[in-house]
Amino acid sequence: MKIERVILASNNQGKLRELNELLAEHHIEVISQREFDIPDAVENGLSFVENAIIKARHASALSGLPAIADDSGLEVDALNGEPGIHSARYAGEHGDDAANNRKLLEALANVPDGERTARFQCIMVFMRHAKDPTPLICQGTWEGRILREPRGENGFGYDPLFWVAEENASAAELPAAIKNSQSHRGKALRDLMSRLSALGL
Ligand code: IMP
Repeated sequence: MKIERVILASNNQGKLRELNELLAEHHIEVISQREFDIPDAVENGLSFVENAIIKARHASALSGLPAIADDSGLEVDALNGEPGIHSARYAGEHGDDAANNRKLLEALANVPDGERTARFQCIMVFMRHAKDPTPLICQGTWEGRILREPRGENGFGYDPLFWVAEENASAAELPAAIKNSQSHRGKALRDLMSRLSALGL
């Protein structure tokens, strides 16, 4: 099956550009779900995998095209994996990074340095069609520790609180190219590219 166009189940222009650059070598064009006026899916899954599949299936069903979706977040060991699938709206309002970071620091106030381990997770899913019984499920993980106060100005979300020991820096202190080469999202994307290549796509 030769695929020429894929819909991305996201309105994030940064993700669209990044995917288009990578899939150009596969001669696949990536289109935003916005171009099809597709409303956001109801993300009522209980895991990153379920939510990524829900989003991809929704975009594929409404566009008739194969779809890619990702779902990501921060997993903190001392909080039993929270904020997890609630990462974007941990403090209540969707996408309020400052409030989310404050809430995370409060939740970990009494947790000693050695127990502040955490990781970013990214699941990236590819579905050939809305009823695809075997979606490609790709994963990337980035290990770190939660700081006691924010550091750095780059990135977004929990980056200022995420300490990357190998780089001796927070994720928000890393240049974008270094972050992409190590991050959960970068790894999941490269996993997806090699799986698509293996399928001859
Ligand atoms: P989404 O999957 O892109 O919607 O991301 C969900 C949420 O997880 C974001 O709103 C952030 O709070 C958090 N998150 C995901 N990836 C990152 C990252 O690379 N840095 C910081 N926060 C992230």
